Amino acid sequence: MTAPLPPGSTIGILGSGQLGRMLSIAAANLGYRTHIYAPETGPANDVSPLMTRARYDDAGALSAFARSVDVVTYEFENVAFAPIAALSPIVPVRPSPLSLATAQDRVNEKSFVEGLGGRPAPWREVKSLADLEAAVAQIGCPAILKTARFGYDGHGQARIASHDDARGAWQAIGAAPAVLEGFVEFTHEFSIVLARAVDGTTVHYAPPHNVHVNGILATSTVPAPAEIAAQWTEAAALAGRVAAALDHVGILTCEFFVGADGPVFNEMAPRVHNSGHWTIEGAVTSQFENHVRAIVGLPLGSTDVVGHGAAMENLIGDDWMRWPQVLAEPDAHLHLYGKHEARPGRKMGHVTRVRR
Ligand code: AMP
Repeated sequence: MTAPLPPGSTIGILGSGQLGRMLSIAAANLGYRTHIYAPETGPANDVSPLMTRARYDDAGALSAFARSVDVVTYEFENVAFAPIAALSPIVPVRPSPLSLATAQDRVNEKSFVEGLGGRPAPWREVKSLADLEAAVAQIGCPAILKTARFGYDGHGQARIASHDDARGAWQAIGAAPAVLEGFVEFTHEFSIVLARAVDGTTVHYAPPHNVHVNGILATSTVPAPAEIAAQWTEAAALAGRVAAALDHVGILTCEFFVGADGPVFNEMAPRVHNSGHWTIEGAVTSQFENHVRAIVGLPLGSTDVVGHGAAMENLIGDDWMRWPQVLAEPDAHLHLYGKHEARPGRKMGHVTRVRR
């Protein structure tokens, strides 16, 4: 195995959002510097000394960036594959472009996971309104139409309650390549956040119980209730197979529904994830530190839960204005991302309440 990058090395991060911010803080704690590459400045720039401001498809700017850093990672997957893949000969890209290509397209993602024995909701690829009408007839209602690419936080999705909704849903998602998914009657949602090192060592965190409101994560709580405890071993085994098959390096997050017959795979993200924010105070080693450790080639840290668990609450839109009350709580850890404008649905920060 090649030697780890020594402290003082520079980690390039594609994306300037809150995930890049928390990655940069974790990197700084271990003695690494980060260099943010993004079209716009964002929360990460407050805590990172270096910035390249350019488009994600600017090949010249990307290759100059790649030459100036020691490893490249990404904090979100909605970047074009080809320009990122072109960086691999210059500098290690971790997780690899294969992880990116698999996770950024719902058709690739679901096919890949099915090939490894995973069970997503019934789904069909949709490229036209005619495809959608045929898919609705096959899958039945209710169903959810999701853009194949570039969706996040419930964006690019439309519910279909009856056949008559098909045309409106197709227009609502911008008539883009999509998948139609059967609606899962789940009792709970959870995620497996795992870290995989360069040498293939894999560790995962306790699965949080995730509650979404309007398609956006609201809370993640550990320990999860018994319904999740009964299904997470199978889910973690699948996530481990996915990570191994991709030769993934870094954090990989797989989201699941608790189904009647076992875990139903929803989606994956080849990166640190909102449902892992509780690990900053709630686990021995945070997801951010373990991502940094993995991509620089260091051994991974313990994922054990600290104390009796933790509950993470997202501060969305104007929620962040509750910060004085949050600070008055004895076991609450406040994280504000430094965003200037609180739009509805925008993640402005989070709070983690630890159970000592
Ligand atoms: P996604 O962005 O695909 O994770 O969807 C956001 C949220 O919408 C999920 O976390 C679920 O709460 C809900 N959702 C998505 N897909 C389905 C489905 N097939 N059945 C039921 N609920 C879903």
